[in-house]
Amino acid sequence: MWLRKLITKRDANMKFVFDNDLEKYLRSLGVLEDIGSGRTTCRYCGDVISKNNLMAIVPEGSDIKFVCNKPSCVQKVEYVV
Ligand SMILES: [Zn+2]
Repeated sequence: MWLRKLITKRDANMKFVFDNDLEKYLRSLGVLEDIGSGRTTCRYCGDVISKNNLMAIVPEGSDIKFVCNKPSCVQKVEYVV
């Protein structure tokens, strides 16, 4: 089964969330609608984030940043964490 890696900087724990739980998780963060609307972009490359290319979630203060699944972007997140 494919796992999607979600990273939160706040607790420095990598969270592995099953696809089925992703929507629930995004809703709990209050960002589910943003992702569906195309308003959310990758923190590093600026690509529009969808549920298909979302790889990481990085809380920054009261903001939540998203990172796409390009290897070059994922590497930056892992460096930050
Ligand atoms: Zn990116």
